[in-house]
Amino acid sequence: MNHFELRDGELHCEDVPLAAIAEAVGTPVYVYSTATFERHYTVLREALVAEGVRDPLIAFAVKANSNLAVLRTLAKLGAGADTVSEGEIRRALAAGVPPERIVFSGVGKTRAEIAFALETGVSEINVESEPEMLAIAQVAQGLGKRATIAFRVNPDVAAGGHAKIATGKSENKFGVSFAEAERLYAQASNNAWLNPVGVACHIGSQITDLAPMAEAFEKMAGLVGRLKAEGLSVERLDLGGGLGVPYFNQPEPPSPADYAKVVAKATRGLDVTLAFEPGRVIAANAGVLLAQVVHVHERPEGRRFLVLDAAMNDLLRPAMYDAYHDIRAVCPREGEAKPYDVVGPVCETGDTFTRDRALPEFESGDLVAFMSAGAYGASMASEYNSRPLVPEVMVKGADYAVVRPRPTYDEMLARETPAPWL
Ligand SMILES: *Cc1c(COP(=O)(O)O)cnc(C)c1O
Repeated sequence: MNHFELRDGELHCEDVPLAAIAEAVGTPVYVYSTATFERHYTVLREALVAEGVRDPLIAFAVKANSNLAVLRTLAKLGAGADTVSEGEIRRALAAGVPPERIVFSGVGKTRAEIAFALETGVSEINVESEPEMLAIAQVAQGLGKRATIAFRVNPDVAAGGHAKIATGKSENKFGVSFAEAERLYAQASNNAWLNPVGVACHIGSQITDLAPMAEAFEKMAGLVGRLKAEGLSVERLDLGGGLGVPYFNQPEPPSPADYAKVVAKATRGLDVTLAFEPGRVIAANAGVLLAQVVHVHERPEGRRFLVLDAAMNDLLRPAMYDAYHDIRAVCPREGEAKPYDVVGPVCETGDTFTRDRALPEFESGDLVAFMSAGAYGASMASEYNSRPLVPEVMVKGADYAVVRPRPTYDEMLARETPAPWL
């Protein structure tokens, strides 16, 4: 469920007409619903609690949407943060996420980032490889601080989704094998500078089938059992993110309730605290990208192009993952749908959002909304083609605030410094 609906023939976000935001802020612009963010977090948490999961840590994957207003909205509900860089840790802290609810993941953490995480006192560093474990021990020793770590295990399951977002097969770069995890866990337990507290996995993104999740979680539970049988202390199990969302016309994802059942079944009796790292399932349907039609260009031989003022630099998912976004008219016209190729102005053929999509009649100046754009939208945006970084607006009830303004051209140019010889 989300809070983007037609009212009196006009698409609204909560109580605000999207056209009013386009008028005031300009397009392209991302618009987020506070109520949808809150609802998605709460539904997931309540589903887990209803299945008997005690005090889960729900660490929102900051990379899905790293806007401070979004992070603050979730932090106020008690969410933690799953981070993959020093920048994301700093964002989570700035948004009020306490360090004990911040998880630091990622395959290539630098020594400087590890030191920052240790000084901040994050809840755990998820170790992705043996060299990384050794680097963490060295940095910890240098700082005189014991590092709380968990091992990210690659459970070697194929979890559907697009190849570029599958992470749980052994050929992917993420995590250690089960055998390595057992060896390294024992080794870390004997290292004065390491405090291994658990294991973690994350098998991919936009997963619409619970079977691979169930398989991965059961394998992880087995690992916890083996570690404990060896006399090692295991307090936490982090089951990652990856739950899919209903992108219109795509396979229906499992409900949070069904997901929670799978979690509960796999982890029953383990006596560990569970953590989760959801990104997309919380953020995707909480945001839209609003754009304006620049031209409708009909080729004599028949193709009809809807040329927008939004481009691949604003919403990369279609170009990068062949992702599908429902495209709606903000004020739909009556009449028969026609096939359109929806494109942006960037000088790349990849700057095509969709081809041959049946859409209502559009005219130059009309507004369109890309639905389900709240995750991996603004956070992946760039200024390619020197297009100003797309702004973001947060709506709450009848109020809205520009939470990342569009930079001016002067601001963009002022970020660069001249070489002294030029
Ligand atoms: C990307 C990522 C997530 C979030 O994935 P979603 O599919 O958005 O839920 C969680 N954990 C890790 C380690 C990730 O890299």
